Amino acid sequence: IINHGTNEGLIFMSQVEVHKFGGSSLASAERILHAVRLVIEAQAEAKVVVVVSALGGVTDELVAAAVAAVGGDRERGLDGIGKILARHEMVLAELSDGDQHEISLQLAGICSELGDLIRGVVLLGELSLRIKDRILAGGEKLAARLFAVALKGQGVEAAVLDADTFLETDDHFGSANALSGVADRTMKAVLQPLLDADQVPVVTGFCGRAPDGATTTLGRDGSDLTATLVAGTVAAGQVVIWTDVDGIFGADPRVVPEARVIAQLNYREAAEMSYYGAKVLHQRALIPAAARGIPIRVRNSLAPEATGTMVDSRFTPGSHPVKGISAIQNHTLISVEGKGMAGVPGVAARVFGCLAQKEISVTMISQSSSESTISLAVPAEHGEVAETSLKRELRPDIVRGDIEEIVVYRDVGLVAAVGMGMAHMPGVAARVFAALGRRKISLLAIAQGPSELNISLAVQGRQADAAVRALHQEFSLHRIDTGEDSTRRFDLILLGCGQIGRALIELVQERQADMFARFGLQARIVAIADRSASLFHPTGLEPEQLAAAMAAKSAGASLAGLSDAVAGDPKAMLARAGNYRLARPVLVDVSDADQAHELFSQAFALGYDVVTANKKPLAGALADYRVLLQTAQTQGRLLKAEATVGAGLPVVDTLEMLLAPGDQLSRARGCLSGTLGFIMAQLEDGQPLSEAVAEAVRLGYTEPDPVVDLSGVDVARKATILGRMSGLVLSDEPPALTGLVDSSLAGLELADLLAKLKQVDAPMAARVEKGKQAGKVLRYLARVEQGSIEVGLAELDKDSAFGSLRGSDNMILFESERYRQRPLTVTGPGAGVEVTAMGVLGDILRIAAERR
Ligand code: ADP
Ligand code: ASP
Ligand code: MG
Repeated sequence: IINHGTNEGLIFMSQVEVHKFGGSSLASAERILHAVRLVIEAQAEAKVVVVVSALGGVTDELVAAAVAAVGGDRERGLDGIGKILARHEMVLAELSDGDQHEISLQLAGICSELGDLIRGVVLLGELSLRIKDRILAGGEKLAARLFAVALKGQGVEAAVLDADTFLETDDHFGSANALSGVADRTMKAVLQPLLDADQVPVVTGFCGRAPDGATTTLGRDGSDLTATLVAGTVAAGQVVIWTDVDGIFGADPRVVPEARVIAQLNYREAAEMSYYGAKVLHQRALIPAAARGIPIRVRNSLAPEATGTMVDSRFTPGSHPVKGISAIQNHTLISVEGKGMAGVPGVAARVFGCLAQKEISVTMISQSSSESTISLAVPAEHGEVAETSLKRELRPDIVRGDIEEIVVYRDVGLVAAVGMGMAHMPGVAARVFAALGRRKISLLAIAQGPSELNISLAVQGRQADAAVRALHQEFSLHRIDTGEDSTRRFDLILLGCGQIGRALIELVQERQADMFARFGLQARIVAIADRSASLFHPTGLEPEQLAAAMAAKSAGASLAGLSDAVAGDPKAMLARAGNYRLARPVLVDVSDADQAHELFSQAFALGYDVVTANKKPLAGALADYRVLLQTAQTQGRLLKAEATVGAGLPVVDTLEMLLAPGDQLSRARGCLSGTLGFIMAQLEDGQPLSEAVAEAVRLGYTEPDPVVDLSGVDVARKATILGRMSGLVLSDEPPALTGLVDSSLAGLELADLLAKLKQVDAPMAARVEKGKQAGKVLRYLARVEQGSIEVGLAELDKDSAFGSLRGSDNMILFESERYRQRPLTVTGPGAGVEVTAMGVLGDILRIAAERR
């Protein structure tokens, strides 16, 4: 057992951390002082090396000055340098009130050299990459001096190190590469003595030294690379990239404002993200870190409390196969097309060989399987050279007709969906294409590496942002990653925890193994809500939580009393759940909530499917019903409602089966109330109405308010649903309804209701008795026909189909074009908690089958 109390300090004190500050973290004296505080905090845990970028905007100003100079505009060039000097002087003055004459002279010296370079460029009318690098490196030199002053002002020993004196690179000006062995040795020789002497080295980022001693740069955003190179040589425990956003986001936050920070990325995932444009971390910076397994943390210097993004060697699939979407603009796509290429070896080699010769690196390649097209994307600045050299190289093939044409698309954007989890999950590419297709974004080329780390697409430049947004949404990246691989899960959100809800919870728990065997999916309940409060956990409620909720509800209490419940209506609960990336979420309505159709629409918009046993959302205003179906359709979601009619009996399913191949329903008639069926049977057996109702309530056959059954309202709702689903009754005309009692009795306490019913016990018994004498029975019938619904008591022959129905059984007869002679009949137990819960589970399983 390790004694952390004593060991930890030792281990960390011997460690080195590299802290790199980007331009935005150094934009002003105030920001620099803030950065210094971050360094001092870090010193509590480790020795620190600082790598600085130029002050925000300075590199761009240097580029502008150089460009003005080569265009002959001496004044603008020199003016640019003058402004840069003035800005640094001002920051210096703000940083310390002591005498900074020495530093001031250094700043002036650097700028005077920059002035000389600018004048040289004007004179020669030429801006070589070599001279440009020398100019651009000036920004970092100025910044490093200011940072060291700020450190010293806070009592921290610091030493400025210009990387163009010791970071050995090749002479690939503009994007030089460190010479690994040599650079390691020279860097270590410079850095280690300072660290040993407890000084903070302040290294200029971005630049290095060519073999002939000239200043090189590592490419725009190269300070990130300086940081990881330095980290490699001093065996740092961690590199912190301080920037102006909270970490690496699922997409560029400027394009997708609702993007979220990704907690952790593998080096390869981060590399892929930055390769395709996520400029927050320079792509090449990942190579030295990955090679030595040094973790990189990307953090916000403006909000250091945010944990940021950790980039390391771990592979955490999280709850989603795709972790991020990035995009890079300004590319040219060249497509070499021709049937004659098929099977001819060496065409691809010649294509890439000729580009390599021009030192043009290709960002994306795709070849169609028929080998008749090779598409490649190159940065727009190389587009023309690439095009002309390819046309020259392939002229013989064009003349022969082996290659038909070379098509060039300008202004192309490359978009990539990135995540190592993609390798484990089929269907990701299909979702990518579908999401883009729905938004009418056409693809110019597609590529997927064999590692399945990314799918990259070439689109028209102006559609790139839309493509990023579409994919970001498709993979729910705006939601919180639950940190759990959810590829095999199936999340249920229960609305209502009454008798049916509780039976459903038990069923789901019981059928777990079976569901997994059938669909490879594990159902879990992530939320339960009643009207007052909800329980929610993004990776599933614990069995104990479910048990406590069920116990509370069956004791007549509300969820609000539970310690882990959150007060608020189901809408709030859905909104909360919507923050998380759930797996195949299904909202299951086992409540009798009135405004549930609004919740359903909210659920569809969140990408949830819906199963309902609640009739109200489907039987309310026709307009609401239509909106519901429309929303489900546009969102590509499923709405299943088998348990709304005939409990678990396949009534809706039968109707759908009948309609699907084009049959037309002409009439549906049914005994649709198990409750009323049961009561009728009891009456026939001589039980008074009030007692029969009391017993039905006790057996769980009634709606929460039995008046809803007795008044016929419940049957009318079922008939309305059938009328709408079959298309027979599409109007807001209320059904012609006669009930056993008036619906105005709704809301009474059970005892009061039973007292009222006692008053009609005698006339009811008489009516039943009279019918019996004539060989008739009373049945509560619903009739749905073209344009009309009728619901009420009917006297029927004892031997007729409905007359012979017993107890709580339901029966429905469908008459249609095909079933004209004899109706299609569905009959069986149509009420009760268990069968209704079964009906709901049946719908859930169908969705599971569809979404697996
Ligand atoms: P620094 O000056 O600190 O090096 P950069 O401007 O180079 O900062 O990089 C940070 C910027 O990168 C952010 O402000 C953001 O606009 C942009 N960016 C692009 N894609 C992403 C992404 N996926 N996550 C975070 N930032 C991104
Ligand atoms: N200052 C340089 C640039 O703006 C390097 C960097 O910031 O990383 O590209
Ligand atoms: Mg940067």
